[in-house]
Amino acid sequence: MTQHIPCHRCGKIHEIPPLRAGQRAECTRCGSLFSPVGCRRTTSSRTAAAAVAAFVLFWPAILCPILEIEKMGIRQQSSILGGTIDVFR
Ligand SMILES: [Zn+2]
Repeated sequence: MTQHIPCHRCGKIHEIPPLRAGQRAECTRCGSLFSPVGCRRTTSSRTAAAAVAAFVLFWPAILCPILEIEKMGIRQQSSILGGTIDVFR
């Protein structure tokens, strides 16, 4: 099945037939290479890496204090999770 894929560099639309192993498609305008059709494995691993990184960074983002208020010598810190809990109290 032929696909219409825009070049990631210049945006020109190309009609690219399914590529076999070892074949590569090249943009006729700027010469950049298109990702092979069987490149889903690379895309999946990048997506998985981004999801794992987001999961690791999520916890410090909601647990670390982002707001500090000092009033009459009393200092109070609040995090996103703490603020959310305070809303429902
Ligand atoms: Zn191009």
